Amino acid sequence: MHARTPIIGGNWKMNTTRAAGVELAKAVAAKAAAHPRVQTVVFPPFPYLIPVGEALRAASSAVGLGAQDVYHADKGAFTGEVAPAMLSDCGCTWVLAGHSERRHVIGEGDDNINLKLRSALHAGLGVVLCVGESLHQREVGETNHVNEKQTRLGLREVTPAEMDRLVIAYEPIWAIGTGKTATPDDAQDAHRHIRAVVKDIFGTEIASKVRIQYGGSVNAANAQALMSMPDVDGALVGGASLKPDDFGAIIAAAAARA
Ligand code: PEP
Repeated sequence: MHARTPIIGGNWKMNTTRAAGVELAKAVAAKAAAHPRVQTVVFPPFPYLIPVGEALRAASSAVGLGAQDVYHADKGAFTGEVAPAMLSDCGCTWVLAGHSERRHVIGEGDDNINLKLRSALHAGLGVVLCVGESLHQREVGETNHVNEKQTRLGLREVTPAEMDRLVIAYEPIWAIGTGKTATPDDAQDAHRHIRAVVKDIFGTEIASKVRIQYGGSVNAANAQALMSMPDVDGALVGGASLKPDDFGAIIAAAAARA
């Protein structure tokens, strides 16, 4: 058995309706129930957090509830934003920070992402810090440099104790929503480097415990090979997380690793 509990995240992005989200949550709960050694978390859109959480609770499911984003302040005049405590109040225990669509479509930078991540950790949430290089950065040999920079800046001023609730998702931008997946060896190289960066910041014990998910066109067919790599501790899944059978197969692939 592997020392690190595998973690599978389903990032629904800006998809589903309220009714479809509730049905999807019920289906995910049923799939995940067969694999209790895998930690599964779904990330619905903000308006559906409460009904999805209710559906998971009604199913007595261990599937976690997460938000796709958060703001760094506790409350106040920040129109349109959502505070960490509001997410907890809605039943969330997880939040994404620095997803590539927020970095590159919305324009969030590393400082902003670090503020979000720290305020979410302070509020007791678990955080998935997303990092990853663009195609150009990969082609010019900057993959490790970019991942190192985003990891170091994202984790600035995080305490060793908070690292218990911190997961890193390596998501090469060129692989997200494109159908292109990193090879298992490419994913392993990037994950090994990210773990070495965590070791440099926090030491051997925390580096050996921190979970690093791979994300980028993970599907039922490629999940097993990716998660067979020693430093790949799960997956953050976009498109395939909307299809219960595919998402269930990815959870099952993680269980085979556990
Ligand atoms: C993601 O949203 O984090 C993601 C990896 O998307 P996809 O699986 O669709 O590439």
